[in-house]
Amino acid sequence: MYKYKQIAADRFVLSLDNHAEVVAALEAFCLEQGILAGSVDGLGAVSEATFRFLDPATKKYVDKTFQEQMEITNLTGNISQKDGKPYLHIHVTAGRRDYSCVGGHLLSARINGACELSVERFDGVTIGRRFDTETGLNLYDL
Ligand code: FE
Repeated sequence: MYKYKQIAADRFVLSLDNHAEVVAALEAFCLEQGILAGSVDGLGAVSEATFRFLDPATKKYVDKTFQEQMEITNLTGNISQKDGKPYLHIHVTAGRRDYSCVGGHLLSARINGACELSVERFDGVTIGRRFDTETGLNLYDL
C-alpha cells in the first residue's frame, strides 16, 4: 500500500502505491507506526476524489465526487485519535486539466500516478477528539 523511510525520530517520508486509496493507506501507516498525534503534508495525482463540505447553517454534510485526472496541488492534514483508532483530518486542493482547482475536506482519493507524503509524529503525545454541538464538528480535545 506504501513504501516509507524514517528520516528522523519523529519524521517519515512516504510514497503511496499507485491506485491505492489515500486515506486508507495513511490510516494503515499510522496504525503500523503507532502514531497517535501528528501532521501530514504532500502532493500527488489522482483519478478520483470525494470531498466533503459542511454547511454551517444546516450542519449537514454535502459530499461530491470528482472522477477525472487531477493533480493534488496540496494535501494538508493532522492525525489524532478517536475511539482508539487513527483519526485523520485532511484537506486537499486538486488541479484539473484546465488548471482550475477543486478542493475541500478529503473523504477519499484514488491515486493515479503518485502520492508523496511527509508525516511528522508528535512523540509521546496523544490528541483525541470530542464532538462539538455548536459547530457539528469533531474538534481537537485539548
Ligand atoms: Fe475538514
